[in-house]
Amino acid sequence: MNAVRIIRNALICDGTGGEIYPGSIRIDGDRIAEIVPHGEISGAKGAEVFDAQGCVVSPGFIDAHSHSDAALLAAPDAFSKRTQGITTEILGNCGHSLFPVTPKNADQVASDCAAAGVKPSWTTWRDYCAAVDEARPAVNFAVLCGHNALCAAYPGIEDQCAALDKMLTEGCPGLSSGLLYAPGRTVPPSDLLRLAAVLKATDAIYTTHLRSEGARLLESLEEAVAFASAGSGRLHLSHFKTAGEANWGKLDAALELLGKARANGLRITADRYPYTYSQTSLSVILPPRYDSMRDREIQEKLSGDSAECEHLIAELADSRRVKRAILTAVSKPEFMPYCGMTLEDSAVRAGMPSAAAFAVTVLRDDGARAMAAFGGMSPENLRRILAEPWVCCGTDENVRNRDESLGRGHPRAFGSFPLFLKMAEELCGLSEAVRRVTSFPASLFRLKDRGVIKPGYFADLTVFDPAKLDCKADFAHPHTPAEGIVRVYVNGEPTDGGKRAGRALM
Ligand SMILES: [Zn+2]
Repeated sequence: MNAVRIIRNALICDGTGGEIYPGSIRIDGDRIAEIVPHGEISGAKGAEVFDAQGCVVSPGFIDAHSHSDAALLAAPDAFSKRTQGITTEILGNCGHSLFPVTPKNADQVASDCAAAGVKPSWTTWRDYCAAVDEARPAVNFAVLCGHNALCAAYPGIEDQCAALDKMLTEGCPGLSSGLLYAPGRTVPPSDLLRLAAVLKATDAIYTTHLRSEGARLLESLEEAVAFASAGSGRLHLSHFKTAGEANWGKLDAALELLGKARANGLRITADRYPYTYSQTSLSVILPPRYDSMRDREIQEKLSGDSAECEHLIAELADSRRVKRAILTAVSKPEFMPYCGMTLEDSAVRAGMPSAAAFAVTVLRDDGARAMAAFGGMSPENLRRILAEPWVCCGTDENVRNRDESLGRGHPRAFGSFPLFLKMAEELCGLSEAVRRVTSFPASLFRLKDRGVIKPGYFADLTVFDPAKLDCKADFAHPHTPAEGIVRVYVNGEPTDGGKRAGRALM
């Protein structure tokens, strides 16, 4: 017999952007069975009754941009996601997916998985979905095909098209690209156009981490528009931003460009995390001669060449970017007290002459990849982007444990959704803000019967107190859980009950 659950005394915000009203909801098994506006559910003997005490009940939040591809297998409890109200993650973003696997890229996929302690047992999209499903994750997931993975697995464009076509007909929601990264960045445009044409038959979405989000933002947007025009006409911009202070003024031109493309019939959407700091390897501060070197090679170079270290310190001495960067993750205990501090403050505390000297010391002495956060985004542009009705929320992060056993995350791993809702509510009201994290992303990625509170729909639900929504996670304490999320249901099961009820949405 199906478990019957009731949520009573709730404010129902159904995900469509319509009016919020008081009422109660009956869940039968994994679906919503009945909604009683302004009243109580009757005849509910044996049901588990949850009193929402006037809190809002909305559809579960959908993380349009997740990188949990390997992590969800290692941490199926999905702590950092479910605690901020997320019930579904979209994987396979930025051109990066863990399939298809052929002898050409098997080693690469194995090493991507090894970081999370996972061994790949799959080769196709379908088998990958089945493997994650078997791990019984606490949240649902849907998976895009990553363009870089596709290129690495199949060097020939004919094979790429055939493999993509097969995935799309089996239910894969679309193709993601990461044209900033290899091997995608060197692919000829004619190949990209061929792949776009494959998306047409199933009206599948094309999502992209643009070739440039800063200096060549507008050119990169044009490229994405051309690609989507040759395909299904659906374009989704990943973590849409104007990166680097010199490019903050480009937002008007970017919005105009997108508006024109939309007038020509393109369906353009985007996701964004509500933070102005990105996080990446500290080594990105190094001058271009280091571009082709891996982190280990950089460390070896700096360890064996003190003259080069002195030269670098002088070269980076005046960089505001270096001074303001925040150290976020290191492997050596002696550097851990500096995590969460700017490099400038760290230098003072460490008694070093400059931020550059501190940075070079970390790059030289830290065994693994030291990470840093760079505040290259405009707070005003963030507000303007979140005000757009075609922008949903994406964490751009993988699942994290409460502790740092699976690595140290960006604060957005824990706080994106409460902060997005808080900011968006001020800009467009709560009901519309909720639509943007529920029915809207559900429609983008074809999540059938999800994203709306409606009889017959799956009971993915988030109960929250809008007045308390917040997350105090920062770079010093990134693993700080969100506040204001009261209870989360995935396929009818409360996630705090210890039962993991997520599944593959395919
Ligand atoms: Zn990306």
